[in-house]
Amino acid sequence: MDAFVVKTRDPKANDKSKCSTKTTVMERHAQFPKETHVAGQKLFCTSCNLVLDHTRKSSVSSHLGSGKHKQKRDLTEKSNQPAKKQRVLTESSSSVPSTIASQERNELCMEWVAMLAAANIPLSKTDHPAVRDFLHKKVVNGGAIPHRKQLQECYLEREYSKRKEEVKLLLKGKAVSIMTDEMSDDNGRWVKSYYHLQCNLI
Ligand SMILES: [Zn+2]
Repeated sequence: MDAFVVKTRDPKANDKSKCSTKTTVMERHAQFPKETHVAGQKLFCTSCNLVLDHTRKSSVSSHLGSGKHKQKRDLTEKSNQPAKKQRVLTESSSSVPSTIASQERNELCMEWVAMLAAANIPLSKTDHPAVRDFLHKKVVNGGAIPHRKQLQECYLEREYSKRKEEVKLLLKGKAVSIMTDEMSDDNGRWVKSYYHLQCNLI
C-alpha cells in the first residue's frame, strides 16, 4: 500500500499542526497548474488520477517528484493525448480533512474489495491490464487502487472481519444447523462446502 500513499519527505509533516488548513484547493492548484486539477473540492494529480492532500505542499511536491508519477506523466505525453480529468458529480462535505488523500484511498479500496467479494470476482482481476486501464481512465481516484497483493494484505482481512461480524450478529441467539458436502470443482480439486441453515424453532 505504501506505493499509493502520498508520502512526504518531511517526517514532521504527519503532524496535523504542519497542515496548512488555510490553503484552499484552488490556491494549491494554482501552485501546480500543469500537473493538477480540481474536481469536487479535491485536488487531483491529472496524470495519475489520484487525490492529493492539498493541505500539505510538501506532500504534493513529493508525489509530483516521485518516479511513479513521472512514469505516468511520460506515458501520457507519449500517447500525445491530454489525460482525461476526472469530474466529481457530488460534493461530499464542505470540511476537508487534513488526511483527505488517505481517507479517499481507504474508502475507495474498501468499497472495491467489498464489491469484488460480493460479486465473487478474484482480487487478481484488479491487475488485469484492461481493468487497470478502466480504473485509470474512468474511475474517480482509480489510480489509488493498488494491485492484488496490497489489496489482500491491507484491505481483504478488514472486509472479512466486517462480514464475519455481520453474520455473527445475524445468527446471534438463533438455532443453526450446519450441513457439509464434499465434491470436486471444475479443476478436479476437492472442496468442502458448509451450509448454515437457520432453524425457526417454535
Ligand atoms: Zn501523479
